Amino acid sequence: MTFSVSCECGKNHAVSAGSAGSRFQCECNLTVNVPSLAQLRDMAGIVPIEAPLEFEIPELLESGTIPKSECADCGRTPAELVHFVADCEQLHTKSSGGFSWGMFLITGGQLFLWQDEVVEFHGRDTMIPTPVCLCSQCHRNLNSLRPQAIADQFGRILIIGGLLSLLVIHWSIAVTIFATGVAAKLYASKTAERFQKQLRLIIESEPMYRKIFRMYPDAIILVER
Ligand SMILES: [Zn+2]
Ligand SMILES: [Zn+2]
Repeated sequence: MTFSVSCECGKNHAVSAGSAGSRFQCECNLTVNVPSLAQLRDMAGIVPIEAPLEFEIPELLESGTIPKSECADCGRTPAELVHFVADCEQLHTKSSGGFSWGMFLITGGQLFLWQDEVVEFHGRDTMIPTPVCLCSQCHRNLNSLRPQAIADQFGRILIIGGLLSLLVIHWSIAVTIFATGVAAKLYASKTAERFQKQLRLIIESEPMYRKIFRMYPDAIILVER
């Protein structure tokens, strides 16, 4: 869709939504600033119906309106684009909660910590891209918080190992192995939580992305590889 922007000299120019926020030179040599997409829409008298975020955000990304080019964490430049995706489908999930020893034993503790997240999926997948710019320092800091899948796997192996070895070795050793496994899994889930919190802090520096969490409070941020 095209909008109309007028130069101070009085000439009207047709601009596309994609040029929102940019500038160009009129034939009269004056520089014409193209307003933001929201302002263009406003000027054209388009009633600002709240476009669903999963459409609005990609549109803003495509037009280059977001994300800002400074580091989303410290504000420094240069910063480069890092890809994240907000997985919002958690809104449509229904947890069947409660701790279940049956599940715990069958899955070797796998569903122990995640019991509340044993979910039925409802509705559609809502994945919203949320790229931000990060300077190399902040990007490195973020990566260092990245949870290690190994701790989780290690914990699972120890839990299963502890349970199985109950039959063959002294119970106190088996229980120690088991407890170490539970601790490792707890550690893994705490690290994952901390990483998620930090990701969210960074993503929320962009006001547009903040809307995602207002609409989908349980959205989780995925790091694109
Ligand atoms: Zn002009
Ligand atoms: Zn930074």
